[in-house]
Amino acid sequence: MAEHAITPRAKDFSEWYNDVIMRAQLADYSPVRGCMVIRPRGYGIWELMQQALDGMFKETGHQNAYFPLFIPQSFLAKEADHVEGFAPQLAVVTHGGGKELDEPLVVRPTSETIIYSMLSKWIQSYRDLPVLLNQWCNIVRWEMRTRLFLRTTEFLWQEGHTAHATSDEAETEARMILGIYRRFAEEWMAMPVITGVKTDSEKFAGAVRTYAIEALMQDNKALQAGTSHFLGQNFAKAFDTTFQTAAGGLDHVWSTSWGVSTRLIGGLILTHSDDNGLICPPRLAPIQVVIVPIWKTDTEREAVLQTCNGVMDSLKAGGMRVHLDWRDSMKPGAKYYEWEGNGVPVRLEIGPREVSQGQAMLARRTGGKAPVRLSEVAPATRAALDAIQQDLLSQARSRREQNSVRNVTKDQLVQLMDGAGGFAYGGFCGSGTCENEIKDQTKATVRLLPDPEFRSNPAPTKCVWCGQPATVEAVWARAY
Ligand SMILES: [Zn+2]
Repeated sequence: MAEHAITPRAKDFSEWYNDVIMRAQLADYSPVRGCMVIRPRGYGIWELMQQALDGMFKETGHQNAYFPLFIPQSFLAKEADHVEGFAPQLAVVTHGGGKELDEPLVVRPTSETIIYSMLSKWIQSYRDLPVLLNQWCNIVRWEMRTRLFLRTTEFLWQEGHTAHATSDEAETEARMILGIYRRFAEEWMAMPVITGVKTDSEKFAGAVRTYAIEALMQDNKALQAGTSHFLGQNFAKAFDTTFQTAAGGLDHVWSTSWGVSTRLIGGLILTHSDDNGLICPPRLAPIQVVIVPIWKTDTEREAVLQTCNGVMDSLKAGGMRVHLDWRDSMKPGAKYYEWEGNGVPVRLEIGPREVSQGQAMLARRTGGKAPVRLSEVAPATRAALDAIQQDLLSQARSRREQNSVRNVTKDQLVQLMDGAGGFAYGGFCGSGTCENEIKDQTKATVRLLPDPEFRSNPAPTKCVWCGQPATVEAVWARAY
């Protein structure tokens, strides 16, 4: 198996990121530029993400469905902002079966249009509402500059689409999903996020409001990790999705859409990994525990194998995902190195000495090694996994807080974005002119107008850029 050396983060963060992916065999470049092959170890993480999110969506009443990959080109034109936003990124099919098509078909960049064309048929009355749909699928957005997981021409995601009888209900849904995304990011990915609303220039094409979760990566660039849109009646009007109200009138439905993608895997890597490779939070690790047996003689081998099998059984019975690395062809040290690069949270080393002493050596991917009693191996390993999960979250949170600056001045903002980076909180007058000038001069964008929980106290009173009274607080950062 080819080993892939890892460039240190301090030397070249971008190279480091690619090296971590290659070493852990999470993904590879495809023959088609901008597309990505997700290898089994990367796909295993995605499957665990899917299971967790899918469970949360279903608990809150959503059902999965599937809509086609091809969308008539004319559908996208029906919502003016939507087509303007997506036109540059579309892949269009003009031929099928050897003939030119009557109407070109767009490969879905997102599915609002095709879904609303169907909802118009399915929804007649308030009794048909709400409609709470989700689909797991792939998406194509033609990208000029791509990065594995973070920005690829084709990617995997989930897209939720809901229709409601009232504006309030749709808004509540959009906020509720934002809460699910936050919970998932923090409890599963151990990736702390801030929440809030996007400015008009950063919102989804066709939305009234876009809510988002934003995380700060190790290089102090922000990652938009999930978005939830309140669409108002924009798509309902474009597709004439109406319903008979309880009072007997006719109204357009109020709707939402929301999504997270394989980009989350990029966020996971950029949040936790180190110069030795991937660090995977235990809850999303396809292999949580690897058992590495150590032996020299055949007699030792027999005893060690028996113990290792017993340990594997008790860990599996305890609900842990375990792998026993019984390869004859590799020395234990080489195995440690390989599993370290793969990000497996816990390694158990068991040799003749451990067998005779009734213990195993437990090594954490995040550092530290200690013996555990074989009689307590399952609860001890479970406790180590839980501790790693918690530590990763609290470390990431304190790193973010150390790199968040409150009440920045104009000079500080410029210096910060040219230098260390991070989240810069400051007053904002809300004008597009200030927003654009800041973007031009610092390459930083407004990541969010933060929710109350994340706002500064006292609130900033003046716009960072123009000095006029601030209407809101904003968080700036350079972003992926
Ligand atoms: Zn201003």
